[in-house]
Amino acid sequence: MAATIGSTIILIGGKVVLGTMLVTSWIGAALVYVAAIAINVSRTRRRSSAQRENPVSGLPNFEALRSLPPFGSATVIAAKVVNFEDLAAFIPGDGIGKLVEQVTRRLQLASQGTTLHHDLDGTFAWLVPYYQHSQIEGQLAGLAALFNAPLTIGDLRVDVAIAFGVNDEFEGSNAQRLAAALVAAERAIRTRALWTKYTPRQKDDAGWQLSFHSQLEDALTGGDIWVAFQPQYEIATRRLVGVEALARWTHPTRGPIPPDEFIIQAEKSQDIYRLTLFVMDQAIRSAAQLRERGIHINMSVNLSAALLDHSDLVGTIRVMLTAHHLPPEALTIEITETAQIENSRQARQTLAQLRRTGIRLSIDDYGTGQSNLEYLTEIEADEIKIDKRFVSTMRDSQRNREVVKSTIDLAHRLGAVAVAEGIEDAETMALLVGLGCDVGQGYHLGKPQLFSDLVAILTTPPNSRTA
Ligand code: C2E
Ligand code: CA
Ligand code: CA
Repeated sequence: MAATIGSTIILIGGKVVLGTMLVTSWIGAALVYVAAIAINVSRTRRRSSAQRENPVSGLPNFEALRSLPPFGSATVIAAKVVNFEDLAAFIPGDGIGKLVEQVTRRLQLASQGTTLHHDLDGTFAWLVPYYQHSQIEGQLAGLAALFNAPLTIGDLRVDVAIAFGVNDEFEGSNAQRLAAALVAAERAIRTRALWTKYTPRQKDDAGWQLSFHSQLEDALTGGDIWVAFQPQYEIATRRLVGVEALARWTHPTRGPIPPDEFIIQAEKSQDIYRLTLFVMDQAIRSAAQLRERGIHINMSVNLSAALLDHSDLVGTIRVMLTAHHLPPEALTIEITETAQIENSRQARQTLAQLRRTGIRLSIDDYGTGQSNLEYLTEIEADEIKIDKRFVSTMRDSQRNREVVKSTIDLAHRLGAVAVAEGIEDAETMALLVGLGCDVGQGYHLGKPQLFSDLVAILTTPPNSRTA
């Protein structure tokens, strides 16, 4: 039973990273190659020294790659199995060896003619010679299509989500160029892209990261960090029923920094608690101000799951609610990366305390593998938020429409509210009406905006609004 649930979760989790990037035409041709390449795997195993070889796959590792002659005009490609840790924890016995072998076979397709290198934690890299550069995009799309078919390991069928980083800047040492490709792969994972290219902007980031803590402090105190509010509408009535608070950082020299970037950085540098409390305070304060004007709408705030381990989180939020006279029922906490909750007793306790306090809980990014099925039974969620990657593509993708439909049904069966984010056009809105979705959010309905602009919408008579 546990195995079935587990594999379902992996299936759901893995599917998604590649879901929107299907290049179906590649699948057939590429699968034919898989069989042929299988023979090649053992051939490519090197008899290099133990330190230069991955013990599981027998492939040369990154140390071996770094010590090659200078890469010159070759492009470095890094590939990361996004859900490798989940898979490693879940697959029993020697299954992980089989998994690596199958992943290797598929990757060999793109690294034909060059050597595939395998390092720790499901990380791979290879070089593409200059004359093959024009084929890289096609190769990566083909690989994505290949990985869309589940792997079979014993009785298990598992989905493997993979992301790629490309470094085609011909400068720097081998070690630097490999590191840059890995940074780009990490970025692909974060931005949920199939692949990203290392850019000089990311180079600047290295310096930025070193002084992140002090820059964040300055930005918080200096007003460069602020909170935008994106409206949420009840789909059946088109009534504005809530807003999501979204952190914004307008840097004096770098310009607007995408939240995904600075939030990841804040999580790494342990500054996320400070940042979250800032957003929470602004959000609660703003919701209270609306109430004073007789506008009773819900306020949603994002919370990184890692913060659930803070034992004083609930107490701090309660103090804020009391200070601003906001009833807890008016606050929804959106939690993503719920996978992290699994092993933490403190996190479970925090969730239970939040609910006892009367605060609503929402599972954010539902369906992305960051938040999935098992945790629905763990967290008594009041709301399930269907990730924008499904919603914004549901008009053209039958498959994603099915995901949206089944998630709405699931939410309703669990007594939860279904929220669709990423509604970008009227057709999608109409589809969601048909599917009985409760609440919607997206650029078509309203962008994240200044509090003052939100107040203006809310104080305009409903007849003259254009949602
Ligand atoms: P999220 O929680 O999934 O937030 C929704 C994101 O979708 C926002 O991106 C929003 O601007 C964007 N969005 C809204 N409507 C549409 C649409 O119609 N189409 C498309 N393509 N996108 C739409 P944003 O503001 O860039 O935030 C990115 C992520 O950063 C958020 O994703 C959330 O995970 C995180 N984040 C933002 N603020 C905070 C915060 O205060 N705390 C924490 N922990 N995370 C935050
Ligand atoms: Ca959210
Ligand atoms: Ca989301």
